[in-house]
Amino acid sequence: MSKRVLLAAPRSFCAGVDRAIEIVERLLAEHGPPIYVRHQIVHNDHVVQRLERMGAVFVDSEDDVPSGEICVLSAHGVAPSVRDNCERRGLRVVDAVCPLVSKVHAEARRYVDSGHLVALVGHADHVEVIGTAGERPDETVVIESPEDAERLDSRGRPIAVVTQTTLSLDDVRATVDALEQRFGTLRRPAADDICYATQNRQDAVKRLAEEASLILVIGSQTSSNAQRLVEVARNAGATAALIGGEGELDIALLDDHQTIGLTAGASTPEELVESALSRLAELGWDQLEEVTVAREDVHFRLPREVAAAQ
Ligand code: SF4
Repeated sequence: MSKRVLLAAPRSFCAGVDRAIEIVERLLAEHGPPIYVRHQIVHNDHVVQRLERMGAVFVDSEDDVPSGEICVLSAHGVAPSVRDNCERRGLRVVDAVCPLVSKVHAEARRYVDSGHLVALVGHADHVEVIGTAGERPDETVVIESPEDAERLDSRGRPIAVVTQTTLSLDDVRATVDALEQRFGTLRRPAADDICYATQNRQDAVKRLAEEASLILVIGSQTSSNAQRLVEVARNAGATAALIGGEGELDIALLDDHQTIGLTAGASTPEELVESALSRLAELGWDQLEEVTVAREDVHFRLPREVAAAQ
């Protein structure tokens, strides 16, 4: 029987990642290096290393950027206190925050300002969650699990729910259900905070798992959405592994799997998928079939600082 690879579609870059990378590339082309970027522009080591070679300098804090220099804010978003500090320090801020993350920030502000306590469903140590919670830190509680939901002290206030954009849909549902059981109807945004790219990539993995017994997810360990793809694959009954690229492919892992599913997180460049496919073909998995669950045609406008150079 032939050995097959089922390739997920959509996979790899989302519109927010595309935009963030393009912003740094355009700034480098227009101003020359160094261009300072607060935090990894997107959570992918390959992307970060490529931009570093071009002259981007990644820093943990805006305090590490010399006064008067450009400071790009990463796709994951920042707390208002970071923007204030950039202004105090005389930095020229260029905003590469994904508009879908900014939308969640706006929701959090609106809910707190209308008297709600915000339950922010997400991972407390993830940079996106730190940024969102920073909008109204005293009125926001990070909820990581249904157990956290059961322990939440509402302080006598109505509860509103917002979520990190890159979670597993199933995990969010369990946590929101637990909140609803305790507090009744919750205030929630009309459209889910889990972004279209997260949802599509997870749906594609579920489809792959109907036929593939092993699913390889290409992405960095720091990538939340890639980690969630592994979890979704496992929950759907497949064996799954997160690999940084074909160099990390453990051949022993492939044994006994006739059909392998392949996908990549929203911050993973397509070229890493192509090299993994070539490696799999060399190893005998040379029948390729793309499994498409959705077509994406989302583009976000560039900020005016770089759009002017278009
Ligand atoms: Fe934006 Fe979604 Fe991409 Fe995150 S995964 S950068 S929220 S489009």
